[in-house]
Amino acid sequence: TDPALIRNFCIIAHIDHGKSTLADRMLQITGVVDDRSMRAQYLDRMDIERERGITIKSQAVRLPWDGHVLNMIDTPGHVDFTYEVSRSLQACEGAVLLVDAAQGIEAQTLANLYLAMNADLHIIPVLNKIDLPAAQPEKFADELAGLIGCDPSDVLRVSGKTGVGVRELLDHVVQTVPAPVGNADAPARALIFDSVYDTYRGVVTYLRVIDGHLGKRERILMMSTKAAHETLEIGVISPEPKPSDLGLGVGEVGYLISGVKDVRQSRVGDTVTTVVKPAEEMLAGYDHPRPMVFSGLYPIDGDEYPELREALDKLQLNDASLIYEPETSAALGFGFRVGFLGLLHMEIIRERLEREFGLSLISTAPNVVYRVVMEDGSELTVTNPSEFPTGGKIAQVFEPVTKSTILAPAEFIGAIMEICQGRRGQLLGMDYLSEDRVEIRYTLPLGEIIFDFFDQLKSRTRGYASLDYEPAGEEESDLVKVDILLQGEAVDAFSAIVHKDKAYTYGVDMAKKLRELIPRQQFEVPIQAAIGARVIARENIRAIRKDVLAKCYGGDISRKRKLLEKQKEGKKRMKMVGRVEVPQEAFVAALSTD
Ligand code: GDP
Ligand code: MG
Repeated sequence: TDPALIRNFCIIAHIDHGKSTLADRMLQITGVVDDRSMRAQYLDRMDIERERGITIKSQAVRLPWDGHVLNMIDTPGHVDFTYEVSRSLQACEGAVLLVDAAQGIEAQTLANLYLAMNADLHIIPVLNKIDLPAAQPEKFADELAGLIGCDPSDVLRVSGKTGVGVRELLDHVVQTVPAPVGNADAPARALIFDSVYDTYRGVVTYLRVIDGHLGKRERILMMSTKAAHETLEIGVISPEPKPSDLGLGVGEVGYLISGVKDVRQSRVGDTVTTVVKPAEEMLAGYDHPRPMVFSGLYPIDGDEYPELREALDKLQLNDASLIYEPETSAALGFGFRVGFLGLLHMEIIRERLEREFGLSLISTAPNVVYRVVMEDGSELTVTNPSEFPTGGKIAQVFEPVTKSTILAPAEFIGAIMEICQGRRGQLLGMDYLSEDRVEIRYTLPLGEIIFDFFDQLKSRTRGYASLDYEPAGEEESDLVKVDILLQGEAVDAFSAIVHKDKAYTYGVDMAKKLRELIPRQQFEVPIQAAIGARVIARENIRAIRKDVLAKCYGGDISRKRKLLEKQKEGKKRMKMVGRVEVPQEAFVAALSTD
């Protein structure tokens, strides 16, 4: 395709403002998906995405429109997936910034807009859901225009649900988004923005061609690993993969398959060139995102450790932000310490490991990363609370902090400040976006916001507040390690690092929660919480003789078998810690609030 006829754009917005639904209408109106095959949020292809109703992965699709080729990328909106969005932006020249006409600007509207502006994209402001009776297009067109510095009449209005205004939007994309520029005669350079492991076809690599051309049956070179392969198939996604004999030229977005099975050879952010005429310089690639939260992942069945490693390798290909290294726990055996971008990301990874790779896992309570400086000047980075040094030799402890932005109706300012202050926040500033909406900025410890902060915020503001945060360095803090002991033995997987002022309450709450979560055993189980050698709380689980069969004397044999099976089922998520059977929930008890 002539690059002058190509337009590459993405749809960005706060979560639930209707990106995927707008993408649906675009697929339909351009005839890429016929009415019969249409289903809501067509591009949310993963089961998890469909069940949860959220987009996790960006998806690129080629749409023919008015003699042009549009490559549209639908992106996720949740704060954990900002990295996914920023990669997509680099494959585009334009961005449709979507705002729900009944909600107005939210925290991720701002965050995504800033990302798009940093990537030098042409921005098209669009109000969505104008079919809603509660829509206030005039008000929010002003708000949006004020934000990006355009005239309110330049803000387009659409409904992704009914399709109103979507044709006009597509025309507008053709007219205003710049065509890609690249050198067709130069050595080929294509940027890998995603890849996925397919059991049947091996690694599928998604890329955007910047210069030159990549053909079918061509010897290609991955520039960072120097690995060479032959392209077996190359093509575009519209809406399913369509092989193309012509290959991909300047500005085109598509996929390639080279029969590679080794997942490490197709890295997101790498540059693909050809063996015959290799490029000299790589493309800029992507910054590596820094994981914000760590947690231990252990197979329930210790024999599944190699499978877990292989699954992590494969998943990392599809999720470049995932990092992990082996660790051993006295309580849980062999596993991995895994780094995530946030709690949702953590949940999703765990669920994908279980579903896509058939594993049964135990995960430990998440924590942030601490930097500990000892009195002798040595330093250590603690990603696992059980490694937190004990004894009097610690000079300083630093914890990561964030710059957090909260958007909410002005009436909630008091409640929001109260929550933030209670979590060691420092007010940075406050601005009115319109008469009745404010943007409040705080420095908050990451460890304070990753847990139930957002839930609290939502409940105190009747769901009206939205939150975005970004890393903002580290600050010194008064932190201690709280250990939990079962039958007098500290269980490493239960250790947590807590602010000194909250350590006592934390210990008492944890001991109580564990007493409720751990089932009675055939012997007594004392639970203690301790800071160093000082016990700060204790509880007791009384002994019981648990015999389900006793309940069905005289019952028929099949009923007994069913009961036994049920009991086995219930045990699936149990892990033996010493002599005590501990359910999965106990390891993440610190996460639950009540
Ligand atoms: P995303 O998170 O931005 O991808 O949002 P989705 O496309 O998944 O939509 C979120 C919710 O808003 C879904 O329940 C959609 O049905 C609904 N929705 C999306 N667009 C419209 C619209 O134009 N009008 C109305 N009334 N609802 C919409
Ligand atoms: Mg979506």
